[in-house]
Order: sequence, then C-alpha cells, then structure tokens
Amino acid sequence: MKQVAILGSTGSIGVNTLDVIASDPDRFGVYAITANRNIDLLVQQIQIHKPKVVGLADKSYFADYQNKIKACAYQPEVLCGSDGLASIASSPTVDIVMAAIVGAAGLAPTLAAARAGKRILLANKEALVVAGDLFMKTIQAGSAELLPIDSEHNAIYQCLPDANQTSSARGNYHQLGVDELVLTASGGPFRNWPIADLKEVTPEQACAHPNWVMGRKISVDSATMMNKGLEVIEAHHLFGMSADKIQVVIHPQSIVHSMVRYSDGSVIAQMGNPDMRIPIAYGLAWPNRMPSGVKALDLQSMAQLDFSAVDAKRFPCLNLAYQAIANGGTSSVALNAANEIAVDAFLNHQISFSDIYHVNLDVLNNYIAQAMQSIEQLQEEDLIVRQSATQILRKYYR
Ligand code: NAD
Ligand code: MG
Repeated sequence: MKQVAILGSTGSIGVNTLDVIASDPDRFGVYAITANRNIDLLVQQIQIHKPKVVGLADKSYFADYQNKIKACAYQPEVLCGSDGLASIASSPTVDIVMAAIVGAAGLAPTLAAARAGKRILLANKEALVVAGDLFMKTIQAGSAELLPIDSEHNAIYQCLPDANQTSSARGNYHQLGVDELVLTASGGPFRNWPIADLKEVTPEQACAHPNWVMGRKISVDSATMMNKGLEVIEAHHLFGMSADKIQVVIHPQSIVHSMVRYSDGSVIAQMGNPDMRIPIAYGLAWPNRMPSGVKALDLQSMAQLDFSAVDAKRFPCLNLAYQAIANGGTSSVALNAANEIAVDAFLNHQISFSDIYHVNLDVLNNYIAQAMQSIEQLQEEDLIVRQSATQILRKYYR
C-alpha cells in the first residue's frame, strides 16, 4: 500500500485528493494531512480518514485545534509550523506527497519531499515558478519523481513522447520531434465582458469560474489570466522548453486541457471533463491508470470545441510572465510575490480587479533581477518583494 501525505488537505485540490484516495483504500493510505487555518474541516477530515499525523502550518491555531479535537474519538500526532510540514513531507513512511498548498508557502515542504526522494504530485505551481531550475535540480539530486497535477501540464505530460522518461527527455523534446507546447485557457468569467467594466468587478464575481471549482487565489488568477502566465513559467521549467515554444490559446469549454504540436504537423491533445480528480488519479496511479470518479466525457452531446487567440488588452497579465522569463534570474520570484500580495488586496476589497495588473507591472518594472543561487536567497527575495509590493499597493488603494 502506498502512503500519501497531503499538504493543504483542506483546499480544493486537497479535498479532491482525499476523494480519489478513499475510492481505493487497498491501494492508498492517508498517512498525513495538513492545513493552515481551516481547523473545522481539518478535524472532520481526521475523523473520516484517520491519518497518523497532522500538520498545522499556522502554529497560532494550535489551541483552537486542541479545543476542537479533544472531544473526538480519534486523535493523531500533531506537528506544527514549517518544520512540522517539512518533516511530514520527508517522513520515511511516506511514498507520495501531494503538494497542494497555495502560493510560495508551499515551496519549503515540497523541497523537503524532493530531497527525500518522494513521488511529488505538484499542484502548487507557485513553488516551481519561484524556484525554477533550482527546484528541478533538487528533484534530480534527490531522485524524486515529479508528476504535474496542474491540468494543462498533466495534459502535456500525457501528450509528450515517452512520458515514462520525462526527466531524461527534459530540455531535449525538440530532438524527439516536439515543436511547441500549447496551453489552453478558458478565459475565465470575464472573457466577454466590456473591458471598461473590469474595474468594478467584485471578488465574488472573479471567483465564479465558469468551468472549474477552485480556491479563491487561483480563481482570481484565472480571471486575470495571471494563472496562465504562471503556467507558462511552470511549463518552461518543468519541460525545459523556451518561452517562444509555449503558446497559449483560449478554449472556453475546458475540454482540451492542453496540446503538443509535433514537427510532422500532428497535434496531440488530452481531453476530459474539467475535474481535477482526473490529473490527481493519473499522478497517484502513474504509470498505470485508476478510476477517478469523474463521469465519462460525453462526446455526442459535446456541441463544439472553440479555439481563439488571447486578447492582450483584456488579459495583460499573461505577457508579464513572458517578460519575467525574458528578464531571467529571480524575476519570477518578484512577479509571483507581487501577484500574491495584489490578489490578497483585491480579495480584501483594497484594490480594484484591474489594478492587480498595475501592481504586478510596477513591481516587475522596478525590480532588479539577481542570478538564482540558492533556495535561501529566493526565500529572502520573496520577502523583500512582498514588502515593496505592499508599499506600491498603497498607490492603488480605493
Ligand atoms: P485552496 O485555497 O483551496 O487551498 C489551499 C490549501 O493550502 C489549504 O489547505 C490551506 O489550508 C493551505 N494553505 C494556505 N496558506 C498556507 C500557508 N501559508 N502555509 C501552509 N498551508 C497553507 O487552493 P487550491 O485551489 O486547492 O490550490 C492549491 C494549489 O494548487 C495552488 O497552488 C493552485 O494554483 C494549484 N492548482 C489548483 C487547481 C484547482 O483546481 N483548485 C488547479 C490547478 C492547480
Ligand atoms: Mg491549470
């Protein structure tokens, strides 16, 4: 039986992961789950899935946790803070780590899993955006297995030649006839809104994605298309493809999850209903397959599949990602940190939806990139940029 640790079990990806695992209890055990502040859901999950260990990222919620668990029949071992999360991710008992924390906060425990040679199911794209090649080197040095869970990257992984040897083929896909990676984007809730109205968008409107049910941060990122930008950076590092070989197309139905274009004119796509349990099941069972609980794609009732170019005026955040890749070094750290701060401010009604782009642009334009040297340096840069983004943000307060 494979033992799984789920970092971020109370989030959208975490809940879906528990659902897939519970469907095959002979094959997968829940060794550990972790949460930040959603103690009520964590305690519920503990009683259902009975993990051996639980991680509380935010230590200040320990008293709340103790209060809520004391009447419960089942009480697991508890580890707190970033050290606690890292020791869960690297525990000798764990075979598979689902990295489903949101934001750069997911980097440290995911790296701990990489150093310990785990199979990592990577949903937490920000970790890869921030640490880039250093992240990939840590995976290699630890002989860890990295399986992308982000639906687009999971699709590309499935469409690439010889997916079983991705790590050795990384950076050499053109020699295997790959011309280009094509990421699909739904266009989110504002694909057809008048651009002038985007200033007045509310957090609730931005979080109401037409096809996917997700956490609030990624929902806002999908609405600005910063999410697709982060995914371009993610694909660049994951597959070792240059940015000019990573294209984005709008595909409103979210059925084709991404594509690989080959030199002979073939384009291979992966399709499925928009449900994250599909990539999660793929990562858990790889190199085999398992049922995910998702209903079969009904091809006969699927009216049409549309594809169109991205309107850069409507979605200016996408180009910031290409700019960060071109600037190189620690630029992606700056873009990611700025975006986390700006999205948080938008969700707290401090800045407008359109100003998320302006904050990101200001931070990126004022940022002097450094060569990437170490994880510690990236974590320091991340903090520095968060401080300067918080200053820049004030200019846009409503
Ligand atoms: P979410 O907001 O629903 O859940 C986030 C989880 O992370 C929660 O369990 C929360 O307790 C934990 N968390 C939050 N802040 C933390 C911190 N500082 N330290 C430790 N833990 C913390 O988010 P989600 O939608 O599940 O997304 C998780 C990750 O997966 C994100 O990186 C997102 O981009 C990526 N992803 C999500 C989807 C999706 O469909 N939801 C799809 C592709 C990729
Ligand atoms: Mg995605």
